[in-house]
Amino acid sequence: MPVYYPAGITHTDIGYFSFHWQPMKGCTECCNLCKFCFAKRQAIIMAGRENPPEGYDPADPFAVVEFPHRLTAPLQLRRRRSTLIGVCFMGDLFHKYVSAELQQRVLDTIEQTTQHRFLLLTQRLGHARRAFKKYGELPSNMYVGTTVGSMKTMPRVQQLNALEYHSGVNWLSVDPVLEPLTFPPGQLDNVDLAVISPETGPVRRTCRQEWLRSIVAQCEAANTEIFIMQMPIGDTISKDPAEWPDWARPYGEKPPLLQQ
Ligand code: SF4
Repeated sequence: MPVYYPAGITHTDIGYFSFHWQPMKGCTECCNLCKFCFAKRQAIIMAGRENPPEGYDPADPFAVVEFPHRLTAPLQLRRRRSTLIGVCFMGDLFHKYVSAELQQRVLDTIEQTTQHRFLLLTQRLGHARRAFKKYGELPSNMYVGTTVGSMKTMPRVQQLNALEYHSGVNWLSVDPVLEPLTFPPGQLDNVDLAVISPETGPVRRTCRQEWLRSIVAQCEAANTEIFIMQMPIGDTISKDPAEWPDWARPYGEKPPLLQQ
């Protein structure tokens, strides 16, 4: 029997959350991590379909588009257990083209949907900070995260820690790992969770196992929960922890913060 979800919510096999809520889509590149952006690739594929989904214009597949009619969708998602919902992973909610009103209403919905938890991810922490300040006390069922993968992007960890808010979860998407990473001293102490991955997709940049191992060691020292999504093995990328080295295998299992 087909299963229907509220419009704007889709089931996903992205690996660390099972539902995706999309009250907006689209973005523009902002750093070296964006070169082979997964969301952009998906947007081009969707816009190329015979009947593209709403908001995917073949002339500009990755344009920022808001979907205000999807803002209350999580309130209608019926699940027996607390579910982890990724928010706007096909764009960046804090992109400069997204209205402040939509951002505030997304936060409202998260606050009202107390039965579920929400993963936010942004590379624009300055904009996020302004939106959070305007909102006031933020919902505690919200995980606020940013992406790092090169030393150039490392200052974002400090920016994440400097956000003035709530008792929710701070997390990092360490993806794609493009070089050896050294986190600034003490800066992982307030990071609750790190999701780690090499670049994936048809074209990808090199990642070495020892780079991931060093990230894992730094997270272990800071008691940060770890989830490894993929592992470079020779010329391939493996999703199967059974193929990974011993030190990595336990981190192929979802840690407590990602349990559903
Ligand atoms: S910020 Fe994220 S969504 Fe936007 S282009 Fe870069 S990788 Fe893609």
